[in-house]
Amino acid sequence: MRWQGQTLNDVDADALPGLENRSGIVRSVTTPKFAGMTFHEVLAKSALNAVPGASRMPFSWTINPYRGCSHACLYCFARGTHEYLALDGGADFDSQIVVKTNVVEVLERELRRGSWKHEPVALGTNTDPYQRAEGRYRLMPGIIRALADSGTPMSILTKGTLIRRDLPLLTAAAQQVSIDVQMSIAMYDDELQKSVEPGTPSTQARLDTVRALTDAGFRVGVFLMPVLPHLTDSIDAIDVALQRIRDSGADHVVYGALHLRAGVKPWFLQWLEAYRPDLVSSYRALYPGAASEAPQGYRQWLAKRMRPMIRMYGLEAQRSREAPASRRLTGAARSTSAPAAPAPAPMLF
Ligand code: SF4
Repeated sequence: MRWQGQTLNDVDADALPGLENRSGIVRSVTTPKFAGMTFHEVLAKSALNAVPGASRMPFSWTINPYRGCSHACLYCFARGTHEYLALDGGADFDSQIVVKTNVVEVLERELRRGSWKHEPVALGTNTDPYQRAEGRYRLMPGIIRALADSGTPMSILTKGTLIRRDLPLLTAAAQQVSIDVQMSIAMYDDELQKSVEPGTPSTQARLDTVRALTDAGFRVGVFLMPVLPHLTDSIDAIDVALQRIRDSGADHVVYGALHLRAGVKPWFLQWLEAYRPDLVSSYRALYPGAASEAPQGYRQWLAKRMRPMIRMYGLEAQRSREAPASRRLTGAARSTSAPAAPAPAPMLF
């Protein structure tokens, strides 16, 4: 969605950069309850986004009710997409949140089309659907209801403990369609977690959420990613992580090394410079120039380390592979004979 694509030729000279053409923007909201944040409420033209056929994603459709994300993970791969709105991929991404306020209504309309094939839909592929804004806008209940009532399987990937609010609804919806839920929990050192994911719920709160989802009957996967070279890839760090994940009742783990896309790298390195300046040169060597993936040698080394440990803790997924190639399908415990929900893509890495 480009702002330009919604043009009504209503130009506001005082608007934020990139928001001058106010078409589609209903209003921009600030509120003391969400200090420091601005919500740009827009009317979306579509809710279901088709994933290009050439994509490596294991699903064909996504829904993203929000753009930008208050979870503010320094490594978030979606940061660059905010530049597309002429906002920056740093603080703007964390605090200038675009909210598609009519997403449920548009989705219901799209799902009623005769051409809709009820293919699995992934939520959480770009930004987190249970970020703070969801506490105010409550878009997810309507989305879950609409998908379930139409017989459309879904997957949800989140770092947001707010998903617990919708647990009764998700449990009921899982009687209608397959629902796959995954929690993203990458940091098991509280200081590091607060520094690199400053807007997220704590690691323990997310593990408690895994427990709540598991107790409700879902087979929950944990995305142990991104693994940060030299920060979270020691045997001790991985061991602590896997122990805590297993104790939370999670079904399986998906892991993957840090990706640093062009729109993310400067923000991440800026953080690293402040947090661990001694590691900056190592990271520059691992992710030189435009390289976004860790070198194959590092990924192979990580796989050799991770796989036996994941096996030891009984956290292998049935169709486990290393991410990002590992976007597998898993069904919810109460899935029906409907098509399986897609494993959510690592939105975030
Ligand atoms: S990685 Fe996910 S949770 Fe973190 S800022 Fe990006 S979209 Fe939000």
